[in-house]
Amino acid sequence: MTRITSADESAVARAQRELQEAGVRTVIGTVVNASGITLAKSVPLARLGTFHQAGMGAAPVWHVFTIDGGIAFTDSITPVGDMRLKIDITGLRVLQGGWAWAPASLFEQAGAPSPACARGLLAGVDGSLNQAGYQALVGHELEFFLTSPDGSALETTSWVPYGATGLLDRSEFLDDLLSAMNQAGIPIEQIHAEYGRNQFEFSLPPASPVHAADTVVLAKIMVGIAARAHSMQASFSPSPFPGTVGNGAHQHFSLQKNGLPLFSGGSGPYGISGEGGAAIGGIIAGLPDIQGFLTGSVLSGSRLAPGTWSGAYLCWGLENREASVRFLNEGRSNPHGANVEVKIVDPSANVYLASAAILALALEGIRSGRKLPAAVPGDPGRLSEDERHRANIRMLPNSPAAIIDTLDTSRLARGLLGDAVVDATVAVRRYEQRTSADLAPDELAERFRLAWSI
Ligand code: GLU
Ligand code: MG
Repeated sequence: MTRITSADESAVARAQRELQEAGVRTVIGTVVNASGITLAKSVPLARLGTFHQAGMGAAPVWHVFTIDGGIAFTDSITPVGDMRLKIDITGLRVLQGGWAWAPASLFEQAGAPSPACARGLLAGVDGSLNQAGYQALVGHELEFFLTSPDGSALETTSWVPYGATGLLDRSEFLDDLLSAMNQAGIPIEQIHAEYGRNQFEFSLPPASPVHAADTVVLAKIMVGIAARAHSMQASFSPSPFPGTVGNGAHQHFSLQKNGLPLFSGGSGPYGISGEGGAAIGGIIAGLPDIQGFLTGSVLSGSRLAPGTWSGAYLCWGLENREASVRFLNEGRSNPHGANVEVKIVDPSANVYLASAAILALALEGIRSGRKLPAAVPGDPGRLSEDERHRANIRMLPNSPAAIIDTLDTSRLARGLLGDAVVDATVAVRRYEQRTSADLAPDELAERFRLAWSI
């Protein structure tokens, strides 16, 4: 059992007092499971301490609830047993309407982290990086389509990709969203109308991996609240409307050692250091193995087309939007410094697992001294198949079955991230494939357009 220290008690009392002063009556704690869906419990404010210290009960099947409300049982995840869902009070934020939110993690009853808890796993990967002397920062981008409350397309007279029109058409929604985010302390960097009709994107600043992923969950909640207030919904499906661009959930990261960046100031291409190059090499080499954590859902494959900037080609390049790994150089126009963007990730992924998988590959690349492959300067789609073959560039698979089979049989993924998260992910994604095998692409997209909305 976790011992309750007096420092903990006073932190709880302080948080409770502050929340009360802010008019909070109910606290919601969320976790994201292997399907990428967000589950929650809530308590009256007076129970804040219990939610943090003893936690609320959660059945082990929480890990494998599916996008259609089913359960993908595994050999070890059965109806038997119980876990504890405990909120992290350092992440508490005030929402509107008397509610507050905090990120939560799942623990075994005896107090150990649940091996399939994605947030706990990401904290563990970050801890391994720190122990090895590295500090990681992660910055998320989030794309979503605004829809009608039932998920159908909104009527819009005109849409200019990246245009001012979309910002003006949805100015009241955006104003509400931005002021709610500002109040909740989410330091949003920018928001714009995206390529897709009624699609928007915002970026969040770099933060420590767990905190950055927590902020993505909070930001999705706030998008959901603002959309509802304007009689809309927000789709975080990878492919809400097949045949056009999808939603990405690109993740940027940077690494430092002894206060020095690994992706600039070195002697490799664009100033990448030897260890920075090994980290990128590790990601390129291991990406197919962990793709099931980044684009594993039954709708993920339909987003992965060349020419849609989803990073469908397995390669890296400076500012290359068709590469699964895009490098951003340091310079005056890049105030956050050099960083690596893994573009292939989509919002049906569990954000914690996706970060854990990417960072674990980076560390593995450094540990095994991986070589940095040659950068790909242009659009691989403009090369002939022969030229791509010679340059060692291939398309990442877009078949859900192939992506998940590779994850299931990957010794690398199981070795780096453990059997529990691999098995849970494989179970929910195979369930999706099984239960939607008879659906046409449009029906599939429609049925699950709001599956990852909060
Ligand atoms: N919507 C694209 C995707 O699916 C990304 C567009 C962009 O580069 O912002 O990832
Ligand atoms: Mg975008």
